[in-house]
Amino acid sequence: MFQGKRVLVLGGSRGIGAAIVRRLANDGAKVIFTYAGSPEAAKTLADDTGTTAVHTDSADRDAVIDRVRESGPLDILVVNAGFAIFGDALEQDPDEVDRMLSVNVHAPYHASVEAARQMPEGGRIIVIGSVNGDRMPLPGMASYALSKSALQGMARGLARDFGPRGITINVVQPGPIDTDANPEDGPMRDLMHSFLAIKRHGRPEEVAGMVAWLAGPEAGFVTGAMHTIDGAFGA
Ligand code: NDP
Repeated sequence: MFQGKRVLVLGGSRGIGAAIVRRLANDGAKVIFTYAGSPEAAKTLADDTGTTAVHTDSADRDAVIDRVRESGPLDILVVNAGFAIFGDALEQDPDEVDRMLSVNVHAPYHASVEAARQMPEGGRIIVIGSVNGDRMPLPGMASYALSKSALQGMARGLARDFGPRGITINVVQPGPIDTDANPEDGPMRDLMHSFLAIKRHGRPEEVAGMVAWLAGPEAGFVTGAMHTIDGAFGA
């Protein structure tokens, strides 16, 4: 489906990002992906999939912009890199909060804008948000919820900016997905499942399937929208 398409995935070495790399490469795309802290996982994935792994820390705005520029022109940009910090808002280190906002908010914005400079008509930008952008049922995660809801405004606005050129931008909002960041066999399992209609974690491949649809030819009229895949966590 993606034969000859040029793809950049920011944050592709593990978890949901790695599933997206596998899916798009398997469907014929020429994929470059970034990593920061997991060079070995990145190399293994690149070797397995015939993709290209490059080091770029999403906390470094200029490095992200340079990476996007040097990878272009892109047909598809996927911004997946992100993380959560947990704990009492009154106790959290403000530098840690700001680092998270750099990775989860600033990088997606600057990467999307930079990609659009060279992106051809029909281009696709897909950002991985979270159902926590809509619903935050737990204390200690306000800064993460802030970061993911910020992506909603970004997508609505940039859809207006890029729509006239036939470029779409969408946010995929997963619920609990079984990755290193939120393992199904971890201590949060029962609490997470209590919020769900489908009593299991989602799989990274299920999120990758939604990304592939949004990146594909059937989704050309879909933009500025949030696409939730969460077992009804947010319902
Ligand atoms: P993982 O921790 O399993 O993987 C995170 C990925 O992002 C890794 O490839 C990591 O690369 C990359 N990454 C993180 N920080 C940086 C950085 N500074 N620069 C470059 N790459 C970075 O997380 P998930 O797969 O679970 O999460 C992926 C996305 O999905 C995140 O945006 C997360 O917020 C979102 N999400 C996840 C949910 C879940 O339940 N798992 C639910 C809802 C949303 P490396 O290891 O090389 O640094």
